[in-house]
Amino acid sequence: MNDKKSRQAYQEACKYIPGGVNSPVRAFRSIGRPPLFIKKAAGPYITDIDDNSYIDHCLSWGVHILGHNNPAINKQAEAALIRGISYGAPTVAETELARRIINAVPSIEKIRFVNSGTEAVMSALRLARAFTRRKIIVKFDGCYHGHADYLLLNGGSGLNELKQSYSAGVPPEILQQTLSVPFNDQTAVRKVFAKHGKKIAAIIVEPVPANMGVILPHPGFLQFLRDITSQNNSLLIFDEVITGFRLQIDGAQGYFGINPDLTCLGKIIGGGFPTGAFGGKREIMDLLAPDGPVYQAGTLSGNPLAMSAGIAVLKEVSKKDFYKKLNGLANDFTRELKALSRNRGGTVNALGSMFSLFFSAKEIITNQADLQKCNNTKFRIFYQGLLAAGIYLSPSPYEANFLSSKHSPEILHQTLSMVKIAI
Ligand SMILES: *Cc1c(COP(=O)(O)O)cnc(C)c1O
Repeated sequence: MNDKKSRQAYQEACKYIPGGVNSPVRAFRSIGRPPLFIKKAAGPYITDIDDNSYIDHCLSWGVHILGHNNPAINKQAEAALIRGISYGAPTVAETELARRIINAVPSIEKIRFVNSGTEAVMSALRLARAFTRRKIIVKFDGCYHGHADYLLLNGGSGLNELKQSYSAGVPPEILQQTLSVPFNDQTAVRKVFAKHGKKIAAIIVEPVPANMGVILPHPGFLQFLRDITSQNNSLLIFDEVITGFRLQIDGAQGYFGINPDLTCLGKIIGGGFPTGAFGGKREIMDLLAPDGPVYQAGTLSGNPLAMSAGIAVLKEVSKKDFYKKLNGLANDFTRELKALSRNRGGTVNALGSMFSLFFSAKEIITNQADLQKCNNTKFRIFYQGLLAAGIYLSPSPYEANFLSSKHSPEILHQTLSMVKIAI
């Protein structure tokens, strides 16, 4: 594999940008080679600056459910671009995307747009604390909710690679208001509520964690979280930045039949533009400024290009049988992937069009502790083999992989035949 230009570009980037990247996992550190620099992408493929093309299963970390460079999104975004990039004033596109999301996701009665998933989570938690007049936030080990100070404790995504349990630069006092417990562990959650129940503002959870690989909630676990928060007058916040519009039109909450009080969205809803959103019960959302006392703002929030792209995405995924088709293909794919990995030390976790492959002696990976026992050397060798064969997975054993509607059966067959060789 010729990666001369990417290697040079990375050296150059490292002179100016810490680690050469603007988001840590992009640096490929857990893969043990420098990252590829990408120059273009179309449908299921990305192409690097050495002109190698790959079948992409990272898809900008799950953003591109319609594949890269989708004509329906481009058309709307281009039209918005030509009209003007940003006005710092309301546009009807914001209302239209809000209405479409609210119509799709019943628990969301009002919504506000921000510029990233991180902002969505920060704002939702501020709101939860104001609404409940309580301070403590409960989260789960290995879940990732963006990089706000008080959530950088036992986190997922790139935080899996930190040597200590929280980020430097976060005052420990701030983390006293955050309690992190193992995912899928009802006893741990009960204990925390027994001790702090009346002080807990909210539980925040990725309903299907996808930042420690894909982890499935045990049957009843999410309902248990709904019940215990209701009983204690705490809020339940679903961070659906990955699962929203990924699993089905109403996300993981629709799939599992749970009504959270607040929901955080991001990734898919901006069609590739920087966007996030948080929404939920009207009585909670109405606490936001200018109606209420909870301040939250953004110069570029609800940006017209991002809103137009988001509307285009929502239109496509709302078409009849969109998810049925995507998830149908995905299920065939992951079934075969499981069969290939069995007896080779691989464990596949998958739901709908999200999947991850772990190399572990354990057959079921249910939380961050299991993940930490996985064999990263095996993953690294497997990853590099697949990359050389033209398959680009998310470059870390801790991240999820995805399919898009442009991953045809032929493309998926190609991924599987390369997995068969590389594993
Ligand atoms: C990506 C992600 C975030 C953070 O979103 P950014 O846009 O990167 O700030 C938050 N929560 C989850 C579940 C995510 O996957």
